[in-house]
Amino acid sequence: MRAVVMRERGGEDVLVSTRVGLPVPGPLEVRVRVRATALNHLDLWVRRGVASPRLPLPHILGSDVAGEIDALGPGCEDLEVGARVMLNPGVSCGHCEACLSGRDNLCRRYRILGEHRSGGYADYIVVPRQNLVPIPPGLSFLEAATVPLASLTAWQMVFDRADVRPWHTVLVMAAGSGVSGWAIQLCKLAGARVIATAGSDEKLQQARELGADEVINYRSEDYGARVKALTAGQGVDIAIDHTGADNWASSLRALRWGGTLVTCGATSGYEALTPLNVVFYKQLSVLGSTMGSKADLFKIARLLEQGRLRPLPFEVLPLEAAAEAHARLASRAFFGKLVLEV
Ligand SMILES: [Zn+2]
Repeated sequence: MRAVVMRERGGEDVLVSTRVGLPVPGPLEVRVRVRATALNHLDLWVRRGVASPRLPLPHILGSDVAGEIDALGPGCEDLEVGARVMLNPGVSCGHCEACLSGRDNLCRRYRILGEHRSGGYADYIVVPRQNLVPIPPGLSFLEAATVPLASLTAWQMVFDRADVRPWHTVLVMAAGSGVSGWAIQLCKLAGARVIATAGSDEKLQQARELGADEVINYRSEDYGARVKALTAGQGVDIAIDHTGADNWASSLRALRWGGTLVTCGATSGYEALTPLNVVFYKQLSVLGSTMGSKADLFKIARLLEQGRLRPLPFEVLPLEAAAEAHARLASRAFFGKLVLEV
């Protein structure tokens, strides 16, 4: 089968288009014919060796996959070959206390497609059957590929960690990113008021189209001061910020007394300075979050089918242009997702 493999860790040029053996599904596994794979920043971290630096090579990246069931392993005979599916990116043991509690992303054997095992930059992928979620009618393969990883990540932050409520004002940083695009939509579903930031007026317009009530261009305005002005000097109840070290202290200061910051990433760097006086004096909560429970993707699919959530805007490139897509992702010169058509 065709695949784009990562032969070593490094720049975009380590991604090579080649042919590899067709994977065979084992017990309780299925093979999926990949039709679309969306990129995530995780792909860049793995390629550079920042994430999973001891991963055996060569490796196939790609965590967000949509396609059709192609072949069934033993114990999957009830599934239908040809069914349209999107894949839950998280693979867990299925029998530990965390998994049995529906908190499979806390499983100590939790693995992510494209990070710890072969992903979707290929014609085919083999996954456990519990990772299949039917694509809602009306969604294309390209649209479905934009959904899993980023929407699950946003879901856990908005509903499980921050517990966003209708009376909350939520600051969503970097609206152009996939996670933030979903976070804006989910906060609006929860009935909250959303203030979104981005680095260009074009991205801010798209953030408004996803439901943001107020927008701030962080390149031309001091977002901390604007947040204060938009909240009558109070600050926001909740900040959703995965931009990392650059904005860490400013986002903490943008919170109201008793407010909560949730983070699921650190694009500009892990080593941030925390003004502890702000944390304890204002009685803030700082919460970490990674991925979401597999079951939540079914809820997201239902909301997509009902039209209460919609796929993020995306750009399409062919699989063979994976290296070019990585460069584009790193540039952040687009809104939403980048999808490889396979
Ligand atoms: Zn487990």
